[in-house]
Amino acid sequence: MKLISVVVPCYNEEEVLPMFYDEIIKVSDAMKQEHPDIDFEFFFINDGSKDRTLEIFRELADKDERVRYISLSRNFGKESAMYAGLKNSKGDFVVVMDADLQHPPAFLPQMYNYVKDGEFDCATTRRVSRKGESKIRSFFARLFYKIMNKISQTEIVDGAQDFRFMSRQMVDAVLDMSEYNRFSKGIFSWVGFRVQYMPYENVERPAGTTSWSFWGLFKYSLEGIMAFSTAPLAISIFMSILGALLSVLLIAAGIIGSIFLPDLGTALLIIGAVLLVGAVQLMCTGILGMYLGKTYMEVKKRPIYLAGETDETYRGRKKKNAGK
Ligand code: UDP
Ligand code: MG
Repeated sequence: MKLISVVVPCYNEEEVLPMFYDEIIKVSDAMKQEHPDIDFEFFFINDGSKDRTLEIFRELADKDERVRYISLSRNFGKESAMYAGLKNSKGDFVVVMDADLQHPPAFLPQMYNYVKDGEFDCATTRRVSRKGESKIRSFFARLFYKIMNKISQTEIVDGAQDFRFMSRQMVDAVLDMSEYNRFSKGIFSWVGFRVQYMPYENVERPAGTTSWSFWGLFKYSLEGIMAFSTAPLAISIFMSILGALLSVLLIAAGIIGSIFLPDLGTALLIIGAVLLVGAVQLMCTGILGMYLGKTYMEVKKRPIYLAGETDETYRGRKKKNAGK
């Protein structure tokens, strides 16, 4: 038997949870009919909700023993809730998805087909449109992906989402990234593995409201840049070099100028000197920052490498396929 864990972080989702449950049961029953060798567990995380989310978990657990849940002591944010879910899930495959049906359960059968034989380690959706989202939000989202992919070695696919069907191997890799400031779009991409992207159109929430404000998203995107790039530090060093060059020009112009126009020459000399001091300071801060940045990346204690396929998994898969 193979176990599939469906991990669902929930924050104030009393309105959509019953709908979500009905939907996921429908899909999982159909999948079980097609593949009799799979079992499901539905693992819900209550991320410190202030509504009846936890009571609904209890009701679901009463009537369905495949339902498991964990209730966090307060609101830790979706990233932490997701980590808690991955950490406590037992499945050979793990699905992470939102409770609000913006990640349609109807995708699961196809996703399972991609990962079931080890062809892919992860199947995930990619939004091809941002329908139903405000223009400003879309604009800034696009801008973020542009900047992020310019300055970070970890490529983040525009429109990639936290709707993922993963093998145990990939889940364990994600859990190995035990950093505290989690930016999962980056983490999922950093661990690598073979990922299948499935295009889909944005779906709107049937009920409830998004818990993301514009400010919240802005902070989250800064978090992402900080977690996967030290480029902003390099920028300060670059600026300081520009400043130093400019100041040298000004000082040279000041020296020559003071022969012909003493007032202008002196002014240029003063501006040049101030700029030079500023540039030197910025350079020192930048260098200090670079070392701090290295320390920052080190203290995350990320794994040095992650293995994908080995001869063992390859032979195991071959044997299993031959037995079919
Ligand atoms: N969520 C969570 N903790 C939070 C905020 C959100 O667990 O602090 C969950 C939420 O219940 C939902 C998912 O994360 O299942 C996505 O949240 P939301 O729909 O608000 O985000 P959006 O789809 O607008 O990005
Ligand atoms: Mg949503």
